[in-house]
Amino acid sequence: MASELHAHELLQLIQETKKHLKYLQELGVEGIRPSPSPKKQQDNYVEKMPGPAREVASFGATAARPEKVKPGAKSPDSLFGDLGPQPERLAQSNETFEDIRLEVGDCTRCPLHQGRTHIVHTEGNRKARLMFVGEAPGADEDIQARPFVGRAGQLLTKIIEAIGLKREEVLIGNVNRCRPPANRPPTLEEASMCKPFLLREIAAVQPEVIVVMGNTAMKNLLDTREGITKLRGQFQDYKGIKVMPTFHPAYLLRDPSKKRETWEDLKKVREYLDTSANSRSGD
Ligand code: URA
Repeated sequence: MASELHAHELLQLIQETKKHLKYLQELGVEGIRPSPSPKKQQDNYVEKMPGPAREVASFGATAARPEKVKPGAKSPDSLFGDLGPQPERLAQSNETFEDIRLEVGDCTRCPLHQGRTHIVHTEGNRKARLMFVGEAPGADEDIQARPFVGRAGQLLTKIIEAIGLKREEVLIGNVNRCRPPANRPPTLEEASMCKPFLLREIAAVQPEVIVVMGNTAMKNLLDTREGITKLRGQFQDYKGIKVMPTFHPAYLLRDPSKKRETWEDLKKVREYLDTSANSRSGD
């Protein structure tokens, strides 16, 4: 009886260890070195983790629902207790886009509703590995009720195709779903009313990479004071999802010389998707 109990406990311990190692692997830990002291052992586990996840700017909107795993919270399958601050992970949501759209409804949460013809929802593949996020609809999008269908949108379609994907294979959305007057950037308050719906879609789809195009999209997804020129081309993190900041296609239309840098940024995205697909097919 006692040895059966021990065997059961041992099995449980092995399963917990496996689960924990998988968890660490998902956090980006690439290897573990044996260490003489328990303290050193903990240090080895955490030494290769990516930096602390950034808090998403939250402006207190009521519609925000993606659950947070509290930084520093112990994982339920943690064998070693407190490993120090844990990167924040985005909890998987089972919401559908239809649920989210229903909740957006005939939205009047912010003043932008007054000037709109249509609400422009996120569109594309609900199982996309790659998502593009822009600022807000322009005139063409407002009329057609679809994101990125004007001149900037046509350029975005070319960018997507240049990395070997079809527009239908990715997700395309905006921080705001109503067109701001004269295409001005949405204010912080306007963004705070609308962004939670985008975050809920991200939580439902869990794309592997999000390309944020321009300052508005980047600042709304990442907690940063930096501008797009500084951060473009460098992978950032949104709760465990890779985020690539790059120039907005409308900016590229104004300054085509920036297309070369955008291409460099998108090549990195392509490479990341290829690498992560290979590592998944190998396990
Ligand atoms: N610019 C954006 O940011 N989004 C669109 O949907 C169109 C243009």
